Amino acid sequence: MYDHRKLGRELGLFDTDPLIGAGLPYWLPDGATVRQSLEDYIRAVERRAGYRHVYSPVLGKRELYEISGHWAHYDDDMYPPMDVGGEQVVLRPSLCPHHALMYRARSHSYRELPLRMAELGAMYRSELSGVLGGLTRVRCIHLNDAHIFCTLDQVADEAAAALELIGSAHRAMGLRNARYRLSLPGASGKYVAAPEMWQQATRILTEVLDRSGLGYEAAEGEAAFYGPKIDVQVTDHAGRESTLSTVQVDFYQPRQFDLHYIGPDGGKHRPVMVHCSIIGSVERAVAQLIEEHGGAFPAWLAPNQIAVLPISEAEEGAARELRDRCLRAGLRAEVLDAGSGSLGARIRESRLAPYQFVLGPAETANAEVAVRLRDGRRLPPQSVDAAVDRVRAVVEQYDTLLWPA
Ligand SMILES: [Zn+2]
Repeated sequence: MYDHRKLGRELGLFDTDPLIGAGLPYWLPDGATVRQSLEDYIRAVERRAGYRHVYSPVLGKRELYEISGHWAHYDDDMYPPMDVGGEQVVLRPSLCPHHALMYRARSHSYRELPLRMAELGAMYRSELSGVLGGLTRVRCIHLNDAHIFCTLDQVADEAAAALELIGSAHRAMGLRNARYRLSLPGASGKYVAAPEMWQQATRILTEVLDRSGLGYEAAEGEAAFYGPKIDVQVTDHAGRESTLSTVQVDFYQPRQFDLHYIGPDGGKHRPVMVHCSIIGSVERAVAQLIEEHGGAFPAWLAPNQIAVLPISEAEEGAARELRDRCLRAGLRAEVLDAGSGSLGARIRESRLAPYQFVLGPAETANAEVAVRLRDGRRLPPQSVDAAVDRVRAVVEQYDTLLWPA
């Protein structure tokens, strides 16, 4: 396994500056490309699964977090409030309270449920500077978070569907070592007191896990303060375990915010909130991708997908045309000119690109290209159209195989 902090710097993916501050990384173009590809993937997956996306502000009034319970149960991780014109506002510690308010702002019929609201938004955690490093402990987190407002009868199916989305995301990202954990409350006082609520939520999540056939272990003292959750755990290069994806069943926030829907009987009923985070924070997800792949990302995530290599100066014009053809197909491609080094040196230099398109005089004359794959395979010359179409299909299907049969 690789150390994402070291590689992140070497590969020019992200960095930090003491003047911006510890735990506040910035993303360089190659790292930003990986992150953006991941964000696009998540939004596409959520859209297909019936989620609608929203935006909400990164600040909220102190009272909002008093109602949500963060103020009483999560204050160690929150920034101190800022006084603005006689009001206290806080950098938000989670997106959930905003989404609960957005649900509450309109009346809802049971026919609208399950109502799936998703956002990829910033939240803040006041980590101590001693534990900061790279992308895994940061003070500003961009969280892939979604909330499904549904009836009690719908909770199990929604949680199971969320687990499936998580499984397919991990496959597309080529993450192989994830473990499932049922996170339960512990003895400490940080959990909200409502025993029947905890029991009901735990029973549903246990059923979902058992039905899914996924192996898991239960862990006490790992729940959210308002409810139990299924956590998908990954391990970093230093052997530290952390949570990537989560599914939570929450009876608490709907009660705190007095959420309701109108049932078939015309009366008011309380919805349940299922929190679903398919990839967790983009920071941690990209750290995990770097540590898993060492910079040799699956094609759909690669900063440069196709390195175009003219054998000599004579093919440089054709190389630029080929690059433009790739760009028009929605792919990322760069030309490494003959003047920048021998073919062997340029092949090594672009070794992290999943595809190298080599152009010699014969290929140029026949509108063909010789394709080399990152794993060392060399394919016979083929038409430019066929090669570009093939790569585009791999990228569009989020395939982790470079050249599926
Ligand atoms: Zn949430």
